[in-house]
Amino acid sequence: MSKILIIEDEAEIADLERDYLEINSYEVEIANEGKSGLEKALGQDFDLVILDLMLPGIDGYEICRRIREEKNIPIIMVSAKKDDIDKIRGLGLGADDYMTKPFSPSELVARVKAHLSRYERLIHSNQKVNDIVEIRGLKIDKTARRVYLNGEEKTFTTKEFDLLTFLAENPNHVYSKEELFREIWDMESIGDIATVTVHIKKIREKIEFDTSKPQYIETIWGVGYRFKV
Ligand code: CA
Repeated sequence: MSKILIIEDEAEIADLERDYLEINSYEVEIANEGKSGLEKALGQDFDLVILDLMLPGIDGYEICRRIREEKNIPIIMVSAKKDDIDKIRGLGLGADDYMTKPFSPSELVARVKAHLSRYERLIHSNQKVNDIVEIRGLKIDKTARRVYLNGEEKTFTTKEFDLLTFLAENPNHVYSKEELFREIWDMESIGDIATVTVHIKKIREKIEFDTSKPQYIETIWGVGYRFKV
């Protein structure tokens, strides 16, 4: 349920707005002056703020500016004076919408709905999509560090995963064992290039149908390995 904060000093207007929003299944809280309104807006998780311009304490201009410094939730500013609305538009405080009082409650509800759905789309589109490398049935989810072969998850150790991912991200490039060792194991690492051979063997056992005829990681005799595309 979306939570809405109404910052409004005229109790009748605030109550009317709340009633209409609650009928439309929104959770509503009212602050009747600027200071507590700003504290609520910054301190709690509201999805939208309906903000009156002229308020005792801190006025709507200042509240809008302060909310915007910290949050990108929709702000609908309301004022009794059309001139004020024109003025705040001009100030570029970052409000999403402006309404002149008196307005019909159903108009307010319609705008609240529109802004909330736009905001939800925005949040949704900002969600990080996993970084995935996909080649012929082999899927490497770099974000989750998981590997799937034809939809079936395969368990990889950290270095196996790093090695496979490095090769898959640089396909058709032949790397020597020395180069791969330097790339995947840090310089201080104790070990030698035979480690690379061991890891390639283990990776192949997990992803190749026939390890004697590898479809993904090819051996280039006397040189090194190449990921085939
Ligand atoms: Ca007022």
